[in-house]
Amino acid sequence: MKKILILAEHKKGQLKKASLELLTAAKGQDVKAVIFGSDAQNAANDLAVKGVSVVAWVKDAKFDAYLPDAYAKVIEDLIAEHKPEIVLGSASSLGKDLIPKLAARLDAPIVTDCIEVQLDPAIKVRRPFYSGKAMASVEFLPAPLAFISIRPNALAAGEVSSTKGTVKETTSSFDFGASPVQFVRRTQAASDRPDLTEANIILSGGRSMKTKENFKILYDAADVIGAAVGASRAAVDEGLASHDMQVGQTGKTVNPSLYIASGISGAIQHLAGMRTSKVIVAINKDPQAPIFQKADYGIVGDLFQVIPALTEEFKKIKAKA
Ligand SMILES: Cc1cc2nc3c(=O)[nH]c(=O)nc-3n(C[C@H](O)[C@H](O)[C@H](O)COP(=O)(O)OP(=O)(O)OC[C@H]3O[C@@H](n4cnc5c(N)ncnc54)[C@H](O)[C@@H]3O)c2cc1C
Repeated sequence: MKKILILAEHKKGQLKKASLELLTAAKGQDVKAVIFGSDAQNAANDLAVKGVSVVAWVKDAKFDAYLPDAYAKVIEDLIAEHKPEIVLGSASSLGKDLIPKLAARLDAPIVTDCIEVQLDPAIKVRRPFYSGKAMASVEFLPAPLAFISIRPNALAAGEVSSTKGTVKETTSSFDFGASPVQFVRRTQAASDRPDLTEANIILSGGRSMKTKENFKILYDAADVIGAAVGASRAAVDEGLASHDMQVGQTGKTVNPSLYIASGISGAIQHLAGMRTSKVIVAINKDPQAPIFQKADYGIVGDLFQVIPALTEEFKKIKAKA
């Protein structure tokens, strides 16, 4: 059995699905977790219910906003106290920043953005390379501490065990006043839609959407099926969609069960962000568009006819369900 520390994340007290997926990776191991924020109590309790033996809850409101050095100090102190063999986190925006930082500070091996993980007896992971064109199987050499981040949606949400753990309020001596990095403000897009990186279904539009207003047909379809809406870089560069919607090499990496690419050509840089999606559907009026080589299902047609027609079909299916 391995000793594991999980870096858990929540949104307004609700444990993120990506954090539940970490529990699946750590199933049956000796698992502790850390979670930050004055509003994290429900998420901390949830971790304890799902078999995390000790949940270190950093309740101080100064930790509500992510500050890399502050979070790193807390985690370093927990590592020194609990001596985990593995630190597990999500390859989320926070995880992509914090986990390599910790590994560098502690001079420990790290593999990021894994999509398959075995922790016991040997630590073996698989992760995509070269924008998803190749897969690497990596085995860690024995080391006192290893860091792993897991791509959201790569594993099913789960639990460690049925034995309930405890939540322990944890304080930190981190000196916020002396920190060279200060939290100024958080600007958040007002959206109730699922996060792109966590969404189970994503409907993305490309340059072919032509105007910002035309994205409405994607939102209408997305609302019926509970999807997030993404975009190609061309759509973002032309001001049709915001940058936080960009999928691809210089945007977000997504891994939904269903990815619908609507009027997107399938450039390698776009594929880099979505090629591990479980099912890919492409809608394109050009039957030669490269996206069809990657798609599981293709619809050759004008998206301005296809998307509204699909929306109507989605509604009928939902009405029957
Ligand atoms: C360093 C670098 C990083 C990059 N990073 C990214 C990235 O992160 N994400 C990303 O997406 N791109 C990225 N790109 C850009 C990428 O190379 C492509 O230019 C971009 O993905 C193209 O976007 P698109 O498919 O929307 O547009 P286009 O390539 O113009 O394709 C539009 C498609 O829509 C189809 N179409 C047109 N009208 C209709 C219609 N009415 N109905 C149906 N289909 C229609 C066309 O047949 C065509 O296939 C990057 C490029 C570079 C150099």
